[in-house]
Amino acid sequence: NASLHELDPDVAAAVDAELHRQQSTLEMIASENFAPVAVMEAQGSVLTNKYAEGYPGRRYYGGCEHVDVIEQIAIDRVKALFGAEHANVQPHSGAQANAAAMFALLSPGDTIMGLNLAHGGHLTHGMKINFSGKLYNVVAYHVDDATGQIDMGEVERLAKESRPKLIVAGWSAYPRQLDFAAFRRIADEVGAYLMVDMAHFAGLVAAGLHPNPVPHAHVVTTTTHKTLGGPRGGVILSTKELAKKINSAVFPGQQGGPLEHVIAGKAVSFKVAATEEFKERQQRTLDGARILAERLSLPDVAEAGVSVLSGGTDVHLVLVDLRDSELDGQQAEDRLHEVGITVNRNAVPNDPRPPMVTSGLRIGTPALATRGFTTEDFTEVAEIIAAALKPGFDREELAGRVSALAARHPLYPGL
Ligand code: PLP
Repeated sequence: NASLHELDPDVAAAVDAELHRQQSTLEMIASENFAPVAVMEAQGSVLTNKYAEGYPGRRYYGGCEHVDVIEQIAIDRVKALFGAEHANVQPHSGAQANAAAMFALLSPGDTIMGLNLAHGGHLTHGMKINFSGKLYNVVAYHVDDATGQIDMGEVERLAKESRPKLIVAGWSAYPRQLDFAAFRRIADEVGAYLMVDMAHFAGLVAAGLHPNPVPHAHVVTTTTHKTLGGPRGGVILSTKELAKKINSAVFPGQQGGPLEHVIAGKAVSFKVAATEEFKERQQRTLDGARILAERLSLPDVAEAGVSVLSGGTDVHLVLVDLRDSELDGQQAEDRLHEVGITVNRNAVPNDPRPPMVTSGLRIGTPALATRGFTTEDFTEVAEIIAAALKPGFDREELAGRVSALAARHPLYPGL
């Protein structure tokens, strides 16, 4: 029963250092969040010891009576949260949720449509060296150059030309809401399934602050660790008709034993996501992103070649366009890192710089909203970021302001 510190001081020291990093810096990676202590407690529980291949009530192992209770709670809660007919809570990650959903609906060689990676799509939506790009014939759609928004005219034209079996709507880097009804109409016209990957915006949907894709899509996949704020993992929601296909594509199609300790964490996070406090937090997430987009659209940053893709945001992130800036994506990411703000560089549509450098930044507000940041705090964060992206920035001064904000909102006190 030795503790981590006693048994393995090397790993313990790195875990402690990571906790300190999270506490002392401002986390603005759009896909990250801070899981509640209760979720981490579930993840660190004895459930990690249990094999439970199969589904509640139909397991291939004995002794599953307690994990059955937990998995059924997770299923019931997530179905109620999003109004879904069926839920599978076993995918180990978002990528595995997408793989299982595609395996359930498609055969190798079938045509799929997804948003181009450089335009904000995810690897699993058809990137060349991802399973999705290797197994399926991919026809990518794009955002319109002038508006920065998905070109639904192109989606319709490509769908009619290529007759895909599946259309994927969803994104990893896109600042606007999708028109799920329009996607479904196009899918129906060409006889395709519609799969919505709401990994990024699921928390906003749960809070009622973003349209819900569930009534429109055959299948909806999500991660549980982004805006939803739970443990790292995936979920697949679907219609009743597809339930069997989805379940057998996850197990035994894709995975062996489910991670019941993570599923317990998912169950806890679904309970949290149904609360008023969660809704209020998602509202602050949206307010923070809007404040950031407005600040980064003002003339002083425009003079430095900095602008906001699509001119604003409806979600939890802002995409910064650095194509006209002296700073490339890597330099801007490094500069923010130096003052204590963590973001990731991100390709912009038609990016002239290589993918490891890029001409953009993706900046998200979910983690800071979870930490309790108010609109006043987000205004200060936006000022710091604007100053850091302009020439002649004062590293020490900005780092001091970041430290003050971090101190004002202690993270995981007592851990
Ligand atoms: N889908 C979308 C839209 C994502 O943005 C991501 C992750 O960034 C994933 C799926 C994959 O999730 P995971 O990293 O858990 O595999």
